[in-house]
Amino acid sequence: MYTLCLLHFSLSPMEEAIVIYPASMLTHLAPMVEFAKLLLTQHPSLSIHILIATLPSQPSSTVPSPVPPSITFHYLPTFDLLPTSTDLDPLFFDVIRLRNPDVRRTLLTISNNYTLNAIIVDFFCTSAAFEVASDLNLPAYSFLPTALGAAACLLYLPTLCNKFTQSFQHLNVLLDIPGAPPIPSADMPPTTFKGNKLYDVFLDIATNLPRSTGIIVDTFEYLEPKSFKEINDGLCLPDYPTPPLYCIGPLIVNTTVDGDGVPQCIKWLDSQPSKSVVFLCFGSLGSFSVQQLKEIAVGLERSGQRFLWIVRNPPLENQSLNIDTKVDPDLKSLLPPGFLERTKEKGLVVKSWAPQLAVLNHDSVGGFVTHCGWNSVLESVCAGVPMLAWPLYAEQRFNRVLMVEEMKIALPMVESETGFVSSTEVEKRVKELMGSKEGDSVRERALAMKHAARVATSEGGSTRIALAKLVESWKQK
Ligand code: UDP
Repeated sequence: MYTLCLLHFSLSPMEEAIVIYPASMLTHLAPMVEFAKLLLTQHPSLSIHILIATLPSQPSSTVPSPVPPSITFHYLPTFDLLPTSTDLDPLFFDVIRLRNPDVRRTLLTISNNYTLNAIIVDFFCTSAAFEVASDLNLPAYSFLPTALGAAACLLYLPTLCNKFTQSFQHLNVLLDIPGAPPIPSADMPPTTFKGNKLYDVFLDIATNLPRSTGIIVDTFEYLEPKSFKEINDGLCLPDYPTPPLYCIGPLIVNTTVDGDGVPQCIKWLDSQPSKSVVFLCFGSLGSFSVQQLKEIAVGLERSGQRFLWIVRNPPLENQSLNIDTKVDPDLKSLLPPGFLERTKEKGLVVKSWAPQLAVLNHDSVGGFVTHCGWNSVLESVCAGVPMLAWPLYAEQRFNRVLMVEEMKIALPMVESETGFVSSTEVEKRVKELMGSKEGDSVRERALAMKHAARVATSEGGSTRIALAKLVESWKQK
């Protein structure tokens, strides 16, 4: 009897599981956790294991919550040698590779209790994690929390780099990249510039991408049809078969604000006319010099538009991204004398942070000045808010070209060669976005994309179909 019971136990099928391995920064981790939740709606019996690699400076409580019980977090040990700087560094990628033994150990532990179907890896971790996956004979999918146009660029990067000896930064040509509109070479992501400290790392990531069992991108087909077609037609990978592509977005991290905790900026928006306010917010890292902040203030005031502006401290000396986040900005010293007083009827300046998703979905908001971070773009698309594209770092200049030329959901903010934007440009573009034929045209497109995003994520929509195909794909392995 005892033997029989044991036999029965060992023959009963183990629960199916997958592992998700995000990069440590919150704006990569959050969409992957949303992705896990979405997968469960498609495949409720699946057990999902998320590997969490926190930065030394990041408490583990930054992991988004709440999640369903079938999602389990596994914390990988922290490496003290990781730079605490927010600037990406080659050391960041070295640490990803150093984590491989821990990743391997965790996968083996999970596979003791589950049938492990696949690992889905943030593209920042692919080069390292693919080694472990291939060792364990586990299908490995890449996950890109980026535009599909940016994914096309990454896939095509090794081919493109072979075509030019000079760095894109100095080429001054329009680059022909399948899956993207013509891209001014200077608008390529800085990590693709020869001589950039991350050039080799990104080339290595790009070279490894075709090894993926599938490529999962946080976008939806209707938003980027050209990229979808041309990647699928194999144009980005002339020398390799293109892995299957799954557009499973838009993934929006639902942060609600209600009850007593309604932030002051939402209350202020309640008192503004419908679609009258332009919202200025520049991601989790965007910040400006004092001179640039003053210039924005002058431009905003002259535009005469209502505005809600999130202001951060300027970057620390000699750094482009790191700001002093412990201290709130002293608005009086950062903004022109009398600005806050003169604009108090029309504008609100908020220190450091606002609940962006709630703001974008507020009826009073009619336009968004954004740094073109991909989460922000998708949040604006889902809220149907047209954008003014003011890129600051990473692949954001590339995104601006996609948003303006391809998706037609944004007008461009045009900077000087040094990157400075004049008050005249701010005034002109804000007016254009909020009250001109061009502004109306991107507003209409943004609303159409909001509708299309809803269709994509509804039953029978392209995102749902892609998810079903994805689940089917690892079942067949
Ligand atoms: N965000 C926010 N309030 C702020 C600034 C940013 O809620 O004041 C959120 C925003 O909604 C988005 C994320 O932070 O979800 C920023 O991600 P994105 O990819 O746009 O930019 P990144 O910070 O990665 O450059």
